[in-house]
Amino acid sequence: MEPYLKRAWAEIDLGKLKRNAEIIRGLNSPSTKIMAVVKADAYGHGYEHIVHALAQECGIENFAVSNLDEAIAVRESAPKADILILGYTPPEYAHEISANDIIQGVVSTEYAKALVRNTPSPIRCHVKIDTGMGRIGLKHDDPKDCAAEIAEMMKIEKLSVEGIYTHFAVADSDDPDNVAYTDRQQQYILAVYDRLKEMGIVLPHCHFMNSAATCYRNTPRSTLSRAGIILYGLHPDMSLPIPEGLEPVMEVKAVISQVKTAQPGDCISYGRTFTVDHEMRIATVTVGYADGYSRLLSGKGEILVHGKRCRIVGRVCMDQLMIDVSEVPEASSGDIVTLIGRDGDDIITADELASLYGTIGYEVVCGISKRVPRIYKEA
Ligand SMILES: *Cc1c(COP(=O)(O)O)cnc(C)c1O
Repeated sequence: MEPYLKRAWAEIDLGKLKRNAEIIRGLNSPSTKIMAVVKADAYGHGYEHIVHALAQECGIENFAVSNLDEAIAVRESAPKADILILGYTPPEYAHEISANDIIQGVVSTEYAKALVRNTPSPIRCHVKIDTGMGRIGLKHDDPKDCAAEIAEMMKIEKLSVEGIYTHFAVADSDDPDNVAYTDRQQQYILAVYDRLKEMGIVLPHCHFMNSAATCYRNTPRSTLSRAGIILYGLHPDMSLPIPEGLEPVMEVKAVISQVKTAQPGDCISYGRTFTVDHEMRIATVTVGYADGYSRLLSGKGEILVHGKRCRIVGRVCMDQLMIDVSEVPEASSGDIVTLIGRDGDDIITADELASLYGTIGYEVVCGISKRVPRIYKEA
């Protein structure tokens, strides 16, 4: 018997993760290091094993997370790494930031001052600049004013400014208007960096490449490539191909609990949205929306059974769903089925599922719930 309940589980292939990391390293210039983005439990893959593999086996020294809890969890698996918190930490936690040697993203002078007021120890930070994402960061029309504010911030006692960074809004688009927008965002942060240099301030870091920029507009001027989604083998945007060799790291599987023959007139699942019109074989599968398999896939999603695609019939329930296995006569109770991943010659990706219900692969993998055990393997 397996050490986990064979109901619904995610298989995480650390071999693929490491190969993806190597491919990303190959895209970057020697002067650009990978900053592995492992927020949201490594996009649902589980930070402990992901960070351990990246830090101990791939030599990755930089990680990014969204908050302090995540930073502290990553610190346990990567004792020596640089860990950047991209999002907000309430200033009253400043002491925890310094005690764990974490780098905080700083969005304003006021915030920087609030942080240092809350701890006797120095705070390491990268200053976030809003160049067009409209989310967080310093905002000035003129990059010179932005550089001047940063130069002033550097005089704050106990604040150690180690870099500046910004985030692209549309680097995953090849539309000329969007490309021009990203060009402007990049020119802005580089102008800030160069201005600081003219003022005699040479910061160790200036970074702006996310996964999309790493793939489609890689430049040695970004000291870090903040790679998230491509590390897990998914697309920043479904319409653009990703570099050869990148492979999805997560597969999600469940089992068939029962197979029944349904007769014309029989109804399947809540709401009676599906009525059988010819004799069919219906299999019940041990996964539902509480596992992160969206209810929006009702009547739309497909699941691989013995390498063949079987359509979901009726509504996805909390813990179960039904599929049409009429074309797979061998399907029977206990068989393993693939919700995300490869079975035989066919593959269903998180990106494909996402496009079926109007979201992105990011949300699909992050949404695989805690109830689903992550099983690590290396192939
Ligand atoms: C999430 C995030 C990233 C990573 O984005 P991907 O598209 O997954 O590569 C990079 N930078 C910031 C600021 C982020 O919030």
